Amino acid sequence: SWPIRLERVSVTYPNGTAALRDVSLTIAPGEMVSIVGLSGSGKSTLIRTINGLVPVTGGTVEVGPYTVSGLAGRRLRELRGHVGMIFQGFNLAERVDVYRNTLVGRFARAGALRSLLGIPTPEDREIALRALDAVGMLDKVWTRAGSLSGGQKQRVAIARALSQEPQVMLADEPVASLDPPTAHAVMAELERIGVERGLTVLVNLHLMDLARDYTTRMIGLRAGELVYDGPAADATDAD
Ligand code: ADP
Ligand code: ADP
Repeated sequence: SWPIRLERVSVTYPNGTAALRDVSLTIAPGEMVSIVGLSGSGKSTLIRTINGLVPVTGGTVEVGPYTVSGLAGRRLRELRGHVGMIFQGFNLAERVDVYRNTLVGRFARAGALRSLLGIPTPEDREIALRALDAVGMLDKVWTRAGSLSGGQKQRVAIARALSQEPQVMLADEPVASLDPPTAHAVMAELERIGVERGLTVLVNLHLMDLARDYTTRMIGLRAGELVYDGPAADATDAD
């Protein structure tokens, strides 16, 4: 698993919105870190600089051996193959079964050609099934994603990211659309897997109590500035 380093990162969108201002932070391999802040504080932008979805307008982003700022084409796809990504809206193919949805992670890793051909190797199959087992969804392999509950969909999304065998896992508001008990259950699962696999995990959360319960370190953002970086357990709402 890889470290992440942001050095004086700024992002100003083309319309002039300054979404991140001079943010510096270093995350060690295997750390489980939350990003907390009000809507519009820059959490999603920060996450997206790490896989190159949002280009930085100042500073540098490093993920393992890659300097993200300036990557393009094949090198950028290569980096993304090492970065697992989980979104709020699940992004599953609703009409396709859980198994095929999970395999998408393998194809993302292998690149565009394989993803078009879509033929899994025995290793792909084994890794996808192991990932589904890890999130407790093995009994639903042949179920259409569209017929799963929100919590189950998010578990499949985690399995899909895991089947990429990522060095880093990014989660952008992964539980925001789930009811509180399900949100807790999914966060507990993510935490357990992160610890078990020694994965570097960076997760955006809009609720401080989830950050306190399931991450060890919290980054606080306000209007694009880093206003807190420390133990999640010590953070108060005033931060
Ligand atoms: P959060 O994830 O904390 O809600 P975002 O990173 O989504 O915050 O947004 C930070 C700021 O950047 C907000 O003011 C938002 O409106 C703005 N923003 C986000 N995406 C874009 C974009 N593609 N173009 C212009 N402004 C954007
Ligand atoms: P699941 O059965 O979905 O795998 P868990 O075994 O993780 O869920 O947890 C059992 C139930 O306990 C969950 O469905 C959830 O409703 C509840 N739960 C777990 N952790 C918390 C928490 N910290 N706060 C509130 N409810 C929780």
